Amino acid sequence: MIQKNNIEQEINKELSIKYRIVPYKFDQDKMIFWTDKYSSNTKEALKVLTKKNIEFKECSSKDLYDLRQKYYSKTDISNIKSIIDDFSDEKILNKRQGFENNDSKIIRLVNYLLDYAIANKASDIHFDAVDGASLVRIRIEGILRDLLKLDRSLSNILINRIKVLAKLDYTVRNIPQDGSFSYKKDGKNIDIRVAVVPTIYSEKLVLRILNRDNVELTRQGIGLQGRNAELVSKLIRQPSGLILSVGPTGSGKSTTLITLLKELKSPEINIMTVEDPVEYKVEGFNQIEINEERGLDFNLGLKSILRLDPDKLMVGEIRDQETARTALRASITGRLVLSSLHTNDSPSAVYRLKDIGVEEYLISAGLIGVISQRLVRKLCDCKVKERKYVELYDETMDIYKPGSCGKCDMGYTGRIAVYEILLLNDRLKEAINSGMGLIEFKRLCKEEGLISLKESMKEMLKEGSTSLDEVYKNIMTIGEK
Ligand SMILES: [Zn+2]
Repeated sequence: MIQKNNIEQEINKELSIKYRIVPYKFDQDKMIFWTDKYSSNTKEALKVLTKKNIEFKECSSKDLYDLRQKYYSKTDISNIKSIIDDFSDEKILNKRQGFENNDSKIIRLVNYLLDYAIANKASDIHFDAVDGASLVRIRIEGILRDLLKLDRSLSNILINRIKVLAKLDYTVRNIPQDGSFSYKKDGKNIDIRVAVVPTIYSEKLVLRILNRDNVELTRQGIGLQGRNAELVSKLIRQPSGLILSVGPTGSGKSTTLITLLKELKSPEINIMTVEDPVEYKVEGFNQIEINEERGLDFNLGLKSILRLDPDKLMVGEIRDQETARTALRASITGRLVLSSLHTNDSPSAVYRLKDIGVEEYLISAGLIGVISQRLVRKLCDCKVKERKYVELYDETMDIYKPGSCGKCDMGYTGRIAVYEILLLNDRLKEAINSGMGLIEFKRLCKEEGLISLKESMKEMLKEGSTSLDEVYKNIMTIGEK
């Protein structure tokens, strides 16, 4: 396979429009293009241009337009690169006055980077100090990828500019700082969180892009359906109790919580949240953002909203014993409380609460359900079937691996949520009170109908929704039976 970069240089967007084509697949001697109108002249022109055999795949004009938007928005970083080239051409970096004189160019560079990240639905931009340079990486659908390598002096100017935007002290480089700013894009304000820490080479800066438009806050949007949807309905219909959403960072916990809370919205009830940060602003909710510097942490935030007569409430995350106790007590005294916790699976949530010092009786009285989730990348239709022994399931199975086509991102397109939903029935509550160990508790949960993430992912592997790599990346495989 030839380098993708060469293809982009050869078949740029203008050519794609001129010839009514979008690259689909390519190898050593053949290129396949999408087109909405076959023409032998185009075929000849492309053959001369690429020195390869040319084939076409037909699609509608609308599809071609969509494919073009997708293909070129993902790859078009020419704006960013041209500014960077400008900088090196002028060699302004060596001049001390460079920063002031090129303010507008730096602003444009920051804007282009943000535009690129937003267009690609990235969640984060990283500036990593590596020996003598700075590596810019962006996270799309959970995966970090290299975007650019910058001259250290240019990256320092860029980092300073971002610090100024986020109201941080740019003269300070030896302590961690965090802040935020709002970025206006197509008439909408997007919150950008900035965190910077000193590293052995220089500084590492991460921009977190809180783009609410990326997710649809509906059951369909979060992939909640079938049996899982029924179990969740049962949970949120309860008048009181604590519902926990668990999983690693970036697994979509807060999106799930807000979506469920939105379903409960009604003019007759008071819904309050305490979050860090407020990712989705929802009309009709009373949302509080914690501010640890000023002493407003989850526990204090929760205690204050409890004095404001809430019916349903959400605490972004339970991090300590006090918050856990307060949330459980609120749930026992007639409130429905939603929160999140960092554990690998649903049964472990109970044990995490015990570990941080919450009494068993409080857990069994308050906790009504745990929703564990992961976001796994979805295989594109270009996937390739293979028969393989899968150690994880100790079984030889027909599974699929990523293929390649012009439509997808290295064989994947979008992500799907996988859920493991635990309802705490009387038998399970009794087990918690009896001090049962985790392994036995997990077995009991299974007996009571819990379908584990591992089992759900096995189904997804078989039907080709995802790949084995994604499964390994998303579940603990040590100590599991
Ligand atoms: Zn594909």
